[in-house]
Amino acid sequence: MTDLVVVGTGLFGLTVAERMAEQGRKVLMLDRRDHLGGNAYSETDPDTGIEVHRYGAHLFHTSNERVWEYVNRFTAFTSYVHRVYTTHRGEVFPMPINLGTINQFFRSAHGPDAARALVREQAAELGGKRPENLDEQGVSLIGRPLYEAFIQGYTAKQWQTDPRELPASIISRLPVRYTYDNRYFNDTHEGLPVGGYTAWLERMADHPNIEVRLSTDFFDPSQPVSKSAVVGQVPVVYTGPVDRYFDDAEGALSWRTLDFEREVLPVGDFQGTPVMNYADPEVPYTRILEFRHFHPEREYTSDKTVIVREYSRFAERGDEPYYPVNTAADRDRLKRYRELMADEPSVHFGGRLGTYQYLDMHMAIGSALSMVENKLTA
Ligand code: FAD
Ligand code: UDP
Repeated sequence: MTDLVVVGTGLFGLTVAERMAEQGRKVLMLDRRDHLGGNAYSETDPDTGIEVHRYGAHLFHTSNERVWEYVNRFTAFTSYVHRVYTTHRGEVFPMPINLGTINQFFRSAHGPDAARALVREQAAELGGKRPENLDEQGVSLIGRPLYEAFIQGYTAKQWQTDPRELPASIISRLPVRYTYDNRYFNDTHEGLPVGGYTAWLERMADHPNIEVRLSTDFFDPSQPVSKSAVVGQVPVVYTGPVDRYFDDAEGALSWRTLDFEREVLPVGDFQGTPVMNYADPEVPYTRILEFRHFHPEREYTSDKTVIVREYSRFAERGDEPYYPVNTAADRDRLKRYRELMADEPSVHFGGRLGTYQYLDMHMAIGSALSMVENKLTA
């Protein structure tokens, strides 16, 4: 007897399954991939022995004490602190934009107040107007010259959408600091799972009340727990793409996918840092990840290294949908999908794909904990 079907074994699905299993419910999890863990999955690179995050760099960070306490039940975290650099016209600058970036860019030696005044002057074209899209938000935060150098080209490569059509919120999560602090995240807690992501994710599913079926698509009517067989019979938590659930009835939502190009190099250290962004539009990739640097505490081989170049493009049917693009047309469609969801009371939509929202890992976990409390066990 199954009490709950969870579609998707990412952090949202795993959190729901683990919490429900702890309360004595029998949970059946499905994933169409051949491994669990969703996009946070990682594996050991066969040529170098270095842990590689298969779906792009994943850095755990949170200020939510409840989430931090919860994740620490399954893994300890290293003291890793994320820092990013960006290459612009052959020169390397620290990101996110801070006093170091500003002074290097303008070849100046401003203190915080002078730098603030300079940026304010360079953002004056907005005339105090509330920024309504990414372009205006960028100019208002850092002024036009810094925006054009570090944000405009990178964003064009990453989103392939006119920045005036993108929501301001995409870059609101990037801090701008008038100090030399170049930590990427502002959160209280940060780190990487000591034993790797997959060990953490597998531990969450390791419960006698949880069964996991991999390589199993919820929409494949030939398998016994398909949509047509279970909806209305057993409660379902669905964390796949919301438009796909409704067969694109309201039109396909736009998503962005990534292509990862892996290369093993015969050097101990390629770039001296885990993530190097490439701000200029002429460079076709957005960033290069060098995975050995995520775990300086590990003894990795010193004669080779693995790097991954990340390219971004619109997702076509059949591509992995990674980032909701969220244009005004998408938001209208989403509204109509929400109405359809309301007609499916036994299906609970969650996670990044199921709600069409940019959720970091800690947000996916936090919202899964709330769904368990407010909807599944209320
Ligand atoms: P997912 O992990 O996407 O899991 C959904 C699962 O559902 C998948 O395994 C999929 O195969 C499965 N599924 C879909 N359709 C079906 C179907 N029809 N049948 C069966 N199974 C199905 N977060 C951070 O906190 N820090 C970061 O640095 C960070 N970096 C990221 C970088 C990239 C490139 C991406 C894409 C995401 C990043 N994230 C990061 C976000 C993080 O991946 C998500 O927060 C987390 O994966 C959300 O989990 P989820 O369960 O909602 O979705
Ligand atoms: N961004 C940018 N330049 C950078 C880094 C980020 O323009 O060097 C913008 C870009 O639009 C990106 C957004 O800020 O989509 C959020 O950056 P983040 O690093 O959080 O993106 P993610 O890792 O989620 O793709």
